[in-house]
Amino acid sequence: PEVRELLLSRITDVVDYPKPGVVFKDITPLLADPKAFGALTDTLVELAGRYGATKIVGLEARGFILAAPVAVKAGIGFIPVRKAGKLPGATLAQAYELEYGTAEIEVHAEDLSAGDRVMVIDDVLATGGTAEASLELIRRAGAEVAGVAVLMELSFLPGREKLSGALAGAPLDAL
Ligand code: 5GP
Repeated sequence: PEVRELLLSRITDVVDYPKPGVVFKDITPLLADPKAFGALTDTLVELAGRYGATKIVGLEARGFILAAPVAVKAGIGFIPVRKAGKLPGATLAQAYELEYGTAEIEVHAEDLSAGDRVMVIDDVLATGGTAEASLELIRRAGAEVAGVAVLMELSFLPGREKLSGALAGAPLDAL
């Protein structure tokens, strides 16, 4: 409960960003506060243990910032899921729908394999499209989804519902 209050106090609302009508949740004040960032990292490390995760996937770009220290502290590997065209090696790609148009994310195929239990970390769950596509990638790589953890879930959007099929019973935790 205190951690929740601390985290909430370090997230600010930016009105009309990135476009009119949108209220953007800005996590940079949280990242700049080592107590808050540390508490977030510790909470995610604990979740990784509860999930029995053997790999941590971070979703570009803010997911990288949150996931990397968790992977180091938990002593397990960090795997970047990137926007299409950024990874140099052989990749698996997954397209997903945006409000207008589509987007594509990729992972290095050799980074995930059967027997891996993967925890996905991102900052914000909005429509759930990005997280859902990442779960497809993980399964297509032959690995298992251990759980998804986000700092924030925008509960006025149906992200959790959208994700429920792809989670297939795996936990979704919003801190
Ligand atoms: P979704 O695919 O769930 O609609 O969008 C989630 C992705 O968009 C996440 O990777 C997240 O970083 C980004 N995102 C969407 N809305 C916000 C927001 O208000 N604040 C931040 N920090 N990221 C957001």
